[in-house]
Amino acid sequence: ITVDAFKYGKIPHCTAYFLSHFHSDHYNGLTSKWSNGLIYCSTVTGNLVIQKLKVARNFVRKLPMNDEVSIDSNNDITVTLIDANHCPGSALFLFKLKDKSGRIKRYLHTGDFRACPRQVLHSAIVQPQNPAIDILYLDTTYLNPQYCFPAQEQVVNAVIKLIRKAINRGELIPMKRSSGYNGQWRNKQPRLDKSQLALDKCKILIVIGTYLIGKEKVFFGIAKAFRSRIYVTDEKRKMLMCQEIPGIESLLTNDPHQASVHVVSLMSIKSSSLFAYLESLKPTFKYVMAFRPTGWAYKGQKFSSSSTTEEILNTSTPFTIDSITPTFSTSICQIFGVPYSEHSSFRELAAFVLSLNIRKIIPTVNIGSEKSRENMNYWLDNWQKEKDKNKNIKVVPYNTVDHW
Ligand SMILES: [Zn+2]
Repeated sequence: ITVDAFKYGKIPHCTAYFLSHFHSDHYNGLTSKWSNGLIYCSTVTGNLVIQKLKVARNFVRKLPMNDEVSIDSNNDITVTLIDANHCPGSALFLFKLKDKSGRIKRYLHTGDFRACPRQVLHSAIVQPQNPAIDILYLDTTYLNPQYCFPAQEQVVNAVIKLIRKAINRGELIPMKRSSGYNGQWRNKQPRLDKSQLALDKCKILIVIGTYLIGKEKVFFGIAKAFRSRIYVTDEKRKMLMCQEIPGIESLLTNDPHQASVHVVSLMSIKSSSLFAYLESLKPTFKYVMAFRPTGWAYKGQKFSSSSTTEEILNTSTPFTIDSITPTFSTSICQIFGVPYSEHSSFRELAAFVLSLNIRKIIPTVNIGSEKSRENMNYWLDNWQKEKDKNKNIKVVPYNTVDHW
């Protein structure tokens, strides 16, 4: 068995090639000519592999989420897919391998993931009901105390509030730019006619920058809040159709004048492109608010190397409308970076590891340098000691199963 190892071509003795999700750094090497063995993945990832990479259907095995599935005739190898909360179709793989003596070894591979309570509450791994995981292959992208960022839900809610504020004003809100420039323009009386309080009535266009896959919750959340349809390119539409989301057809449109929420490539989120875009859509739209969701835009509290586990778990990362500052702001065009991450924050990694019974952890990201490996192992060892001290491992407390 291998996971996300397509760049090596045919691997001796490998009979099952697993793909955790449809991001190019993970499927790299997988092409329409693939014939090295069966590819196992979620249904959505399988759809994308067939549709986008043109891999022959007979090499793709789409697996259901949450059910334990046997992948060999002797029932010696099983896999369970758990939602990775990363991009659509992304999965954690729980493998159970029976060795010659009949002992079952358990391996959990996270692929890329954003840790959340729902995952560690899954019946296949929840503590204390399940045996220990022998090896955890962990997405350690942000396993560094400087990486604090809020929950996705908090960020989407703050963005919705900011847009609502602009609607209530009937135009963009004068805002201080993050570089210090004060974007003051004329004061405006609040609107009296309530029927005018909608994105299309105010001629405000919302633009979200994304890659081909990912950040879906941002534009779906905004479109839902303002009852707007979503304009996407044909290519993006094909990607979204692979995700088998009920009712999605009626939500999407290929007429940019019919939707107040537009999804564009991340590269188009710059002032020159946005001015030209707005110009091309006049008179339907007069203003544009553009959002660039990235993992890096948060300037809140950070942890340090001396932070205790208790501090890490109990420190919240607040995010409100006041946390959003534009990187560009004029009276008709504003650009905002928002800290919307599809990888776990440092704190979420701590909560995930502390919630599970694990014998050994193998980091899968930032493993290039000795120093970085040492720093990551420092934290992983700390959390292991914490668990050894408490004996009983249980799920780290949470308010909602969606995030810690
Ligand atoms: Zn990824």
